[in-house]
Amino acid sequence: MKKPHLFAPGPTPVPSDAVLAMARPIPHHRAPEFEALLAEVREGLKHLFQTTEEVLLFAATGTGGMEAAVANTLSPGNTALVIRGGKFGERWGEICQAYGITFTPIDVPYGKAVDPALVAAALEKDPKISVVFSTHSETSTGVLHDIHAIAQVVRKTPTLLVVDAITSLGVVDLAMDAWGVDVVVTGSQKALMLPPGLTLVGVSRKAWEVVERSRLPKYYFDFLAERKNLSKNQSHFTPAISLVLGLQETLRMIRSEGLQKVFLRHERLATAMRAGVTALGLELFAERPSPAVTAVKAPQGIDGTAIVKTLREKHGMTIAGGQGSLKGKIFRVATMGYADASDVIVALSALELTLSELGYPSKPGEGIRAAQEVLRHSEG
Ligand SMILES: *Cc1c(COP(=O)(O)O)cnc(C)c1O
Repeated sequence: MKKPHLFAPGPTPVPSDAVLAMARPIPHHRAPEFEALLAEVREGLKHLFQTTEEVLLFAATGTGGMEAAVANTLSPGNTALVIRGGKFGERWGEICQAYGITFTPIDVPYGKAVDPALVAAALEKDPKISVVFSTHSETSTGVLHDIHAIAQVVRKTPTLLVVDAITSLGVVDLAMDAWGVDVVVTGSQKALMLPPGLTLVGVSRKAWEVVERSRLPKYYFDFLAERKNLSKNQSHFTPAISLVLGLQETLRMIRSEGLQKVFLRHERLATAMRAGVTALGLELFAERPSPAVTAVKAPQGIDGTAIVKTLREKHGMTIAGGQGSLKGKIFRVATMGYADASDVIVALSALELTLSELGYPSKPGEGIRAAQEVLRHSEG
């Protein structure tokens, strides 16, 4: 028997209270029972997104929310600025392309965070740009972009800032209203500790004005229709009812822990993880690391893919390898959502065993010791 350990940057482990909530008999979505549930979930989402505006729910994965953001903020002939620097930043460009939106890319080297001054320069050069698309936590490289600084640039202009916060919301501070972020997209299977299938999209007051005029084609992903229904605790189409039951539970968990404590916990776990891998003589890939996922360079002479494979086959532990050009070169360990200090120790222990099985010369226990040092000297 092998006990499965899920350390992938999505999907992430689902706490048993949420599993049980989702196993309940399905309430009908036009019944008063579901309306009360939706009312609570709407409030919980506003708290999580740090906004007073409506947060929309769609039955889709995170990419569906990204596509919806493009379709609802732009009109034919508009142009966009796309911050790339990983697979998910690139996805914004691909979606724009699918909708016939011309965009200027800012290409950030993999492993680096974007310099907000480049965003300012691009908007100065072309003030007609309607939307800036960025990733917050770039899961493919483990980089955290400085969305607060980018928002300070964009909020002074009529341009909107649309952010893929799929591995940052509920992990690290993202004060949508206070910072002036216009559209924030997340998905259920990351920090929200649920199975995949729900995407959540926060829309600012500034963005709603643009949404009202947006003329790109859309049918299912219609923000205006969804807002109108939500205001009556309804949804336009059949919602992913069981996932919403689970969401009620995980939003309660987040609320009772406290948002700031949730952020501190993620920072603490990621700091311990980084200390652990560094103590093993490994190098971090990200210059400005995200607390959701730690990207580590595979050591000289060892294929990153073999590390992922050995962890899975011998230790029942799922992590992620590198994607695209990073395949075999890095591996990624997530400490996101339903994770605590013991998870860091378990992950590092399996990693140490795996590395020594693959012939890497490190002293077993060194990573764990360094991580424990961090955990001992921080609260959580
Ligand atoms: C997981 C993820 C997505 C969405 O992927 P889906 O498979 O559509 O849920 C998008 N952006 C980032 C940064 C992610 O980590």
